[in-house]
Amino acid sequence: MVQEYDIIVVGAGPGGLSAGIFIARQKTPCLVISKDLGGQLNLIPKLENYPGTMMSSGQLLAKTLENQFLVFGGEITYDTVEKIDEAESGLKIKTSRTEYLAKAVVLAPGKVPNSLGLSNETQFANKGVHYCTKCDAPFYQGRSTATVGVGGYLVESGILLSRMASKVYLIYKGAALGGDKDLIESIKKKENVELIPQSSVKSISGANSLQQITLLDNSGNEKTINVDGLFIEMGSKINLDFVKHLVTINQKGEIEVTEGGKTTHIAIFAAGDATNIPYKQIISACGDGAAAGLSAFNHVEKLRGKPGIRADWKKTIGDTVFHY
Ligand SMILES: Cc1cc2nc3c(=O)[nH]c(=O)nc-3n(C[C@H](O)[C@H](O)[C@H](O)COP(=O)(O)OP(=O)(O)OC[C@H]3O[C@@H](n4cnc5c(N)ncnc54)[C@H](O)[C@@H]3O)c2cc1C
Repeated sequence: MVQEYDIIVVGAGPGGLSAGIFIARQKTPCLVISKDLGGQLNLIPKLENYPGTMMSSGQLLAKTLENQFLVFGGEITYDTVEKIDEAESGLKIKTSRTEYLAKAVVLAPGKVPNSLGLSNETQFANKGVHYCTKCDAPFYQGRSTATVGVGGYLVESGILLSRMASKVYLIYKGAALGGDKDLIESIKKKENVELIPQSSVKSISGANSLQQITLLDNSGNEKTINVDGLFIEMGSKINLDFVKHLVTINQKGEIEVTEGGKTTHIAIFAAGDATNIPYKQIISACGDGAAAGLSAFNHVEKLRGKPGIRADWKKTIGDTVFHY
């Protein structure tokens, strides 16, 4: 038998779990379907910029969000959503194992950073190798770094690192840098940045953490340099094949959302890194997840002929309960 929920959330990263918390707290049947718990949070061993927590890690935050969701009566299942389609009374969600029906869906499938594809790359992840310069550059104050990547991502990474690191090697395959012209001019003037064009990273090595990277240039010459950190800015993948026929997706492959996480489909809401928000950070994914969750709840309330709420808190004056 096909299981039914009022609201199904795709993704158990910070965006999806925050949506789930706000939905479940309204005592509305809600299922989170996710490939894993935490998403990109699993790539963050030391979390410094999530307000209200000190000495935290991404995994700890993921576990806390999951517990909070379950305490409010939410359900979670580990599975992959393969297709979402219109159904007579809402939406049909097909996963790799089964099918569900829901009145509304919140999409929070996030993204996955592209790797360089080096054989020992995962061994050095967070031990000198990083995939998010704006998240991890502050760990390299006064240290030697390299950044490799494409287009604007690379230039922005170099600018950020140049403000903190003692040295930044900027490695790129082409002859010229791509992206914003003003930023390119600015990075060329930075004294601690050395441009290494027409080159790629051939291998990385170190004892417990990264120590050296070996570069290969277009003429076949190799050069090994000592660095404490390597930032890989090769963009990231957002996979929306399962829902692209139902919502508008922009040229960057992100779901177009407006206020409250609304998409172009009346019963589908979205939050987090898979959407067109400018700053892809945990705090934004959580805030937008909460908003998308409340919008989905209000959509379901409207179907029931109820007015919905404006925020997740209420006030009692005398015998009357006011919902905001
Ligand atoms: C290396 C690294 C370090 C970072 N450091 C920081 C930091 O210090 N501070 C900060 O604020 N931000 C940091 N970020 C960014 C932050 O992790 C993201 O902004 C945030 O995780 C986005 O949350 P999300 O819920 O949108 O997506 P994600 O965290 O990507 O989660 C998406 C979830 O959806 C699931 N999913 C995807 N598709 C499907 C499907 N079809 N079916 C079922 N499940 C699916 C995934 O398995 C995953 O669980 C970092 C990112 C990286 C890569």
